[in-house]
Amino acid sequence: MIIFDAQRGEYIDTETGEVIEERVADLGPEWRAFEYKERLERERTGSPLSLKVHDHGLSTRIGAGSSRDRIKLIRMRRLHEEARILSSERSKRLVTYLAILNREATKIAVPEHVKQSAALIIRKLAKKKSHRKSDPYTIVIASLYYACKINNVPVSFQEFVTKFSISASDFWNAIKQIKEAVPELRPRVLPTKFIPKILDELKLPSTIGPKVAEIVNFMYNKGLASGKSLLTVTAGATYIVSILSDNKKMQKEIAEKLGITEATIRNRYREIVKALGPVRYVCQECGFELYRFEEVGEDTHGVMTPSEVKSMHDGKCPRCGHELGTPTLVPGKLEVML
Ligand SMILES: [Zn+2]
Repeated sequence: MIIFDAQRGEYIDTETGEVIEERVADLGPEWRAFEYKERLERERTGSPLSLKVHDHGLSTRIGAGSSRDRIKLIRMRRLHEEARILSSERSKRLVTYLAILNREATKIAVPEHVKQSAALIIRKLAKKKSHRKSDPYTIVIASLYYACKINNVPVSFQEFVTKFSISASDFWNAIKQIKEAVPELRPRVLPTKFIPKILDELKLPSTIGPKVAEIVNFMYNKGLASGKSLLTVTAGATYIVSILSDNKKMQKEIAEKLGITEATIRNRYREIVKALGPVRYVCQECGFELYRFEEVGEDTHGVMTPSEVKSMHDGKCPRCGHELGTPTLVPGKLEVML
């Protein structure tokens, strides 16, 4: 999800912590001032929007005091004026776009951060030439749609086309232009998206889903899955969790069902054990280590299942005599309490 940190004036991807655009401090006040002024103007006079809203709200803070302050004020005003003239073409476009966004966004129920993302897209677009083939209205609606996608807010293409009465092909073209113009902002694929499907395919209980998700997210967040297909990372995680939860599936079966090779599953599984391992089974009464597995390939059998570990110890903890029970997966590790 992309959020706007108003205090720091940054857009941050909550998933990666990455700052997408710094120095957008001007967007916050600009946006707010803009929204406010537009509302005021609409309420009072219904007149079209003034371009003044685009001076980044600075002018309002410049007050006149002593003569030295006045000179400073005059200088600053001149600077502002120059800046405004220089960027006036771009500003006009931006103001037009933001006005449309402000007005149209109220027609569909979107969270504030989605509106902020749309404003960010529009700001980036206003700097480029590519989009000028499309009319502003379509571009703005497409930005809003794209912002929903980026933030995983479920909306449909058809819904937008109908609600905003735009032609599907124009809308599609505008989205294409946005994709090209702001490649750094892309709808994020949820790392966990394949899990329900895979568990279903393999007839594994959905209760193991959270553990698989934890592993997949861990691998992604640590950058250990970069360049690897999400399906294979999920398959590797599913394989290890199927063992730890006593629902063991063979690599061969997973490979066949998912159309990937056994070697790929083994590689992902090896990487997961390396990153989160060792695999440990412990007595939940006294913490005695019943079994330990350090590295894939260390024996031909692979990781033992809880049932195998239990029978290895005749069902009882050799240290405290606790009767080994149903496996409980320990969060954040490849550890099972019995
Ligand atoms: Zn014990």
